[in-house]
Amino acid sequence: MASERDRSAPRITLSDLVEELLGHEGPLPIVAAGDPVLRRGAEPFDGQLDPGLLARFVAALRATMHAAPGVGLAAPQVGVPLRIAVVEDPAPVSDEVRVVRGRVPQPFRVLVNPSYDGIGPGRAAFFEGCLSVPGWQAVVARHTEVRLTALDEYGRTVDEVFSGWPARIVQHETDHLDGTLYLDHAELRSLSSNQATAELWAQPTPQLAAEALGFTLPG
Ligand code: ZN
Repeated sequence: MASERDRSAPRITLSDLVEELLGHEGPLPIVAAGDPVLRRGAEPFDGQLDPGLLARFVAALRATMHAAPGVGLAAPQVGVPLRIAVVEDPAPVSDEVRVVRGRVPQPFRVLVNPSYDGIGPGRAAFFEGCLSVPGWQAVVARHTEVRLTALDEYGRTVDEVFSGWPARIVQHETDHLDGTLYLDHAELRSLSSNQATAELWAQPTPQLAAEALGFTLPG
């Protein structure tokens, strides 16, 4: 229960919070599952950061994503409850994996206030992981194709169809902004350590994992 004094304490603004984060050298600390900031849902971006601060924050998100390394990072993952995410995937995979998973290179993008709708009934199920759930991967069945609407970092409208692995990335990152983690709709029986995933489940599809671990794949 809050005391009188707590209730009247000044609240830190999102702008102050981001300035504070950017005051430290190097990649931003990534928040792990269990922190409520990953579960509350983020507020729409509406100029809470001025253009210069937004640009610096986006650059820091990108550097943090590269350092991790990861192919997407949402602002709540660095403790900032704003609907902003970055994605970028150089897709360093074999031709076979590229074809089966649709993992084509995704250039750097900033997604502001994104939302998506699935297109058609298609689902694709593959192992994925999350920088906020380090050490683990699990199979998630996701829309094969989505229509994403958002703004970019300059406030321009984005209305685009994503398919294959880029569709998976934008669904994963947008879900973060709604307080959803990939584990919420993963096949929990597929949960595998990074080591097990690398040693046992590196095939292009999770078919063998499904048989060995006892879960079903869509379709
Ligand atoms: Zn994630």
